[in-house]
Amino acid sequence: MKTIVLLFILATTIATSHGLDLDHGKENKIVPRELKAFSSAHYERDIRCSSWRLGVETNNIIRFKTVPAKCKDYIRNYFLGDQSRADTKAVLSEAYSYAKSLDIIKGANYTWVFDIDETLLSNIEYYADRGFGTIPHNATDFNKWIEKGKLPALPHSLKLYNKLLALDIKIAIITERPETQHKITVKNLWNVGYRKYAKIIFKDTKKEIYKGKTTLVYKLAERKKLEKEGFKIIGNIGDQWSDILGTSTAVRSFKLPNPLFYVA
Ligand SMILES: [Mg+2]
Repeated sequence: MKTIVLLFILATTIATSHGLDLDHGKENKIVPRELKAFSSAHYERDIRCSSWRLGVETNNIIRFKTVPAKCKDYIRNYFLGDQSRADTKAVLSEAYSYAKSLDIIKGANYTWVFDIDETLLSNIEYYADRGFGTIPHNATDFNKWIEKGKLPALPHSLKLYNKLLALDIKIAIITERPETQHKITVKNLWNVGYRKYAKIIFKDTKKEIYKGKTTLVYKLAERKKLEKEGFKIIGNIGDQWSDILGTSTAVRSFKLPNPLFYVA
């Protein structure tokens, strides 16, 4: 009996030290009891933040101004650990599989649309210094950061970009960055390896049609223009739903993970 008690204490200690919780799944009423005994391994303690992130990625949670303060550590771990890279890689691998499966006709103007921030380039260093999205966005501060022109490429995005070019697919970049950041952006892109694209489009906020309009409206209007110019948009990738939804959508669109902020 003593041995059994000792073994139980030992098992509990090991489970706790490995981040397991023997109460895990206790509230789950729809799973048969016999299945639950094996369900506790490797679950995330911060379930509510994980659910919040899922809500954001599926476009169910919208118009949030900041990451919930209680999720700061969760978001930090998401980006500084392996999960963010693994999620990004999964999306980009699928995107490439799709591109590869196409029957590319030479001269058919098959085009892939990319967003810039959190898609081609990463601002994670900026957000890491400002509470991982828990602090309200400050446009002046952010623009100063962008104008340094020192953003790194998201490695898996750069790989996809080069592979698409090798497949003879044209690249069009549509960013919500303003025209005033055109020069520094092109330089930043060039320095990290994005050197060939058929189009790069900045949001000209002086244009009447975009005054007070959302990124979604701006981007779909620019995609429509591309179509009129003869580009056949077969793929589109961005970190915001506003990069890919609307009309003139791509044959297939891909949403990169981004639980840091929301752009309408
Ligand atoms: Mg973006």
